[in-house]
Amino acid sequence: MWIKASGTWLAHAESRMIMVPVMLEPLLEALSRNDPDAEKAQAFVVQEANPGGLRPSIETTVHAIMPQRVIIHVHCVHTIAHAVLANAQATLAERLAAHHWAWIPYVRPGLPLSREIAQRLEANTDVLILGNHGLVVAAQTVADAERLLEDVCRALNTQCRDTPAADVTGLQLLASGSNYVVPDDKRCHDVALDPQGCAIAAGGSLYPDHVIFLGAGSVIANESDTVASVLQRSELAEKPPTSIVFPSQGVLMHKTASASAMALARCLADVVTRIPLGEAIHYLTGDDDYELLNWDAEIYRQSLDSR
Ligand SMILES: [Zn+2]
Repeated sequence: MWIKASGTWLAHAESRMIMVPVMLEPLLEALSRNDPDAEKAQAFVVQEANPGGLRPSIETTVHAIMPQRVIIHVHCVHTIAHAVLANAQATLAERLAAHHWAWIPYVRPGLPLSREIAQRLEANTDVLILGNHGLVVAAQTVADAERLLEDVCRALNTQCRDTPAADVTGLQLLASGSNYVVPDDKRCHDVALDPQGCAIAAGGSLYPDHVIFLGAGSVIANESDTVASVLQRSELAEKPPTSIVFPSQGVLMHKTASASAMALARCLADVVTRIPLGEAIHYLTGDDDYELLNWDAEIYRQSLDSR
């Protein structure tokens, strides 16, 4: 099985080697024995075909347990906007009535997730909605998998709420003299410019990659806050946050923020502005945040990212 390497971007697949070959049968056998080696899947890499020494995705086992030949796993923002709702299953059942889909409640990605999926797979399941996480589609050919991905994304399509333009000059003033910068992607600011979206972000972490690349939850400034006054908060004393949301103004990113952190800042805006108003949200718990931040496979992915 060829799987995307941990810490690489699918967007770079045509210009560099991002795929790693793993031995599928031995990996599945290890999974069935509950062998902890199945988690990192490192032991199952075909080393002679992996000259770059890449590590398989932290979601290798999730791909391995699906019986179809082509498995696509994405963090589609339309899907996530549904998959964080407390009553996600009811809305999804309506929108995905034409599909053989399964709901997978949130568990940590990797081995726990693949176990949860294994319990809920039926013979014809080819769409998985991962609670507080994303989407998996599976088919026998790349073309069919791509078509299914498009169909599901269309079925889950949600309009984002309109927001006013960000005051970039005001944000630059706020950032001046600090270690924070105004992100190039102006849509990142929508989380600050949409009051309901901002309130949703203030409630906690919505999905794993947010926690991995931006930290647990969101740091939201108060009305009279400056960068310096935000950084004086006791809980931020040890490590300055990667991003700070200034309500009705925009977002500032730490100058060391990686490309992935920037992408996740945009993702947050894309997700929260699509969550329907008045819906109860299911957040990751403090234990979920902790488990993600202290998981070695993720620490490796972050170290690749900062390189
Ligand atoms: Zn994922």
